[in-house]
Amino acid sequence: MEHEYDVAIVGAGFTGLTAALDLTRAGKKVLVLEADSVPGGLASTFDFRDGVRIEKFYHHWFNNDVYVPELVRDLGLEGEIVTMPSKTGMYFNGRHWRLSTPLDLLRFSPLSFWERIRLGLLVFQVRRVKDWKSIEHLSIREWLEPLCGKNVFRIVWQPLIENKFSVVADAVNAVWMWKKLVLRGSTRDSKGGEQLAYFRGGFGRLAEEMVKQIRAGGGEVRYGAHAQEVVSANGRLQALRTGEGLVRARQFLFTPSFSIIADILQKDAPADYLARLRRVRYLGNACLVLELDRSLSDTYWLNVNDPGFPFVGVIEHTNFDSPQNYGGKHIVFLSRYLAKEDPVWTYSDEQYLDFALQHLQRMFPQMQRSWIQEYRIWRAEFAQPVTERNYSSYVPGQETPYANGWISSMAQIYPEDRGTNYAIREGRAMAQKLLKLLS
Ligand SMILES: Cc1cc2nc3c(=O)[nH]c(=O)nc-3n(C[C@H](O)[C@H](O)[C@H](O)COP(=O)(O)OP(=O)(O)OC[C@H]3O[C@@H](n4cnc5c(N)ncnc54)[C@H](O)[C@@H]3O)c2cc1C
Repeated sequence: MEHEYDVAIVGAGFTGLTAALDLTRAGKKVLVLEADSVPGGLASTFDFRDGVRIEKFYHHWFNNDVYVPELVRDLGLEGEIVTMPSKTGMYFNGRHWRLSTPLDLLRFSPLSFWERIRLGLLVFQVRRVKDWKSIEHLSIREWLEPLCGKNVFRIVWQPLIENKFSVVADAVNAVWMWKKLVLRGSTRDSKGGEQLAYFRGGFGRLAEEMVKQIRAGGGEVRYGAHAQEVVSANGRLQALRTGEGLVRARQFLFTPSFSIIADILQKDAPADYLARLRRVRYLGNACLVLELDRSLSDTYWLNVNDPGFPFVGVIEHTNFDSPQNYGGKHIVFLSRYLAKEDPVWTYSDEQYLDFALQHLQRMFPQMQRSWIQEYRIWRAEFAQPVTERNYSSYVPGQETPYANGWISSMAQIYPEDRGTNYAIREGRAMAQKLLKLLS
């Protein structure tokens, strides 16, 4: 059979684009199929009516992320990453608390002095865990509460975990929290402050630059191209069916969530393999992006630790990247992770805005609806893999039932949590693997 491509890749998120870039550079003929009309996947951007461009879901990097700067350098775009100090805070008991440095922590009076010290020491305690598998059977609470004490857990960590994992908060294993604490502890400078990084013009611009270079190297990226099903023979994939016909390739790489991959393989793969893919649960995300004519506060990332607040936090992007880069507008994200069964998932855009504003105005009583110049709500059904107890024992690997079919998906990024830095790492590693197979 004649192959049109060396590699067909499903998904133009950061995993698929990175793999495509490296394969193209190595002289391979690559096709990327992307269902959406823009590249970047979960990190893609959109334009408000006035041309202000911003991510659909807030994004930044940490200053200890290594794969992003490496990629940006390879693209010849060094200098386009900007780093800025993070301004983080907490809303608790009707008050805003700054929580960017150890000194801020010492001033956090809802905890007793001893509890504040205990909270500060947590970073060192978590570093003592050398083998994450030793805590994989525990929930976050079972592991963390004995380390920091009941009150610290209740006031500081429980609301964050519940805002992040909603109804599945007790199902997530301790490794997620451990890794976050270890990584965040190591991003701090000598004064305990933290720098975050961003790509000038947004993550969507970086994805577009990658597409440009893939195309310049002879690779193809097709938008609005939905991979629907596979055609196989003798344990090998022959082709992918799209709305525009069949795509034949020597190797196939799937980068969306397991559930979507299971749908694509549905008619062809063994039932037990499809069940393994579907065993991994995900939370969705509904993200309200507000374009305001003024600022809400001076905090970039405001964790809300009052019970009943149904969002990850209030993220005012323009307290990170200057409003000057957004036509003087102020961008605020209110994002909610939720199960599809949550009634909020079915809210219309107007209902979701009303729902969000009632919480926002409780914290910022001066805020008026008239401050909103425009708003958008983005929904992603597979936004966060739920890493349950003993996740490593059931998460599917990169192999598929097909000798030339491979998966590199964000739910495989473990013990780290998903993120563009790791998508780039995995995309690169997958490209190397495919190059060996093609040689
Ligand atoms: C709310 C939120 C906030 C986040 N914040 C950050 C952050 O601050 N920093 C950070 O680094 N990361 C962040 N992330 C995580 C980051 O966005 C992801 O880890 C990363 O973008 C995953 O890239 P990916 O290529 O693996 O997957 P995806 O981005 O999901 O890409 C998969 C692609 O496959 C396409 N696709 C799906 N089905 C098909 C099909 N049948 N045919 C063709 N194409 C298909 C999709 O449209 C998508 O473009 C955040 C994620 C969320 C949800």
